[in-house]
Amino acid sequence: MTSALITGITGQDGSYLTELLLAKGYQVHGIVRRSSSTVRQRLDHLTSDPDVYGSRLFLHYAELEDVTTVRRILQKTRPAEFYHLAGQSHVGTSFEVPESTCEFSGMGTLRLLEILRDLDNQPKFLHASSSEIFGRPQVSPQDESTPMNPVTPYGVAKAFATQMVRLYRESYGIFSCNAICFNHESPRRGESFVTRKITRSAARIRLGLQTELALGNLDGRRDWGFAGDYVDAMWRSLQAPTPNDYVIATGQVHSVREVLQMAFDEVELNWQDHVVIDPKFIRPADVELLVGDPSRARERLGWKPLQDLATTIRQMVRADLEITRKELAS
Ligand code: GDP
Repeated sequence: MTSALITGITGQDGSYLTELLLAKGYQVHGIVRRSSSTVRQRLDHLTSDPDVYGSRLFLHYAELEDVTTVRRILQKTRPAEFYHLAGQSHVGTSFEVPESTCEFSGMGTLRLLEILRDLDNQPKFLHASSSEIFGRPQVSPQDESTPMNPVTPYGVAKAFATQMVRLYRESYGIFSCNAICFNHESPRRGESFVTRKITRSAARIRLGLQTELALGNLDGRRDWGFAGDYVDAMWRSLQAPTPNDYVIATGQVHSVREVLQMAFDEVELNWQDHVVIDPKFIRPADVELLVGDPSRARERLGWKPLQDLATTIRQMVRADLEITRKELAS
């Protein structure tokens, strides 16, 4: 049985990747921070299944900065594939906690690469990089050769980690890849990201739990994909004969306004009646437009995004209506 190790297994992508790997017959190991015990819901359906948890899915406790423990987990589990998805992934928050963002996403990745460098049985390594490394790019759409120009602490940390992944590939021959992921959403998206904030509020406004939705920059435009498609690209990256970096994106752009329209259409309300602008949510610097060119992933990995944004937003609104109804009933 092929075995894989995942950091960030309790996150949106970690939970989708776990499902994908289990479906492919992998044994899956996840590294979990002790402090993340309260945010395990995304894995609950797997950890409560005795046929899965403890037989094909295992969780190991470690802080990523605890190098000795991480090394021991790697030696004990001997994974063929190592997916590094952990990080403080919220861009807005990274302005408030820039040091821990850089420590965790930047130095944390370097520490893992250093552990791999010393291992006899090196697993293939996938770093979940981000379109935030491009910041305010000179070219559009962005591909793997677009210069990094990050404008947020999160983007700077990810640029450092991305370049280190390249360096360890080129200098030490480690099979290390960057999946440079543009925004990707799902019903499991964290509540502070704009899509989820909108779908959750649309549901709560529909069911009478709130009347207003406070947002920042409505002109922000993003290339928004579906998380389930993006973890498939991560897996494919490690099946290629040689390591490389891949832009994972849809190539389609939508604005925050359009997401509002899609979500509020689903609950048959006018977003204009409920949205207020709160300067608190306007960032010191925002990326205005990011759009990816996923040609390399398409040509070399046979990957393409399967689910469009309208479908994802509809799924998210329906899931949030269900959550809100349960809240009301309890
Ligand atoms: P990001 O691309 O990782 O920053 O993803 P987000 O979902 O956090 O933000 C996407 C876009 O929505 C950015 O341009 C934000 O400035 C914009 N936006 C507007 N209002 C809000 C808000 O209230 N919260 C968040 N998170 N983003 C907002």
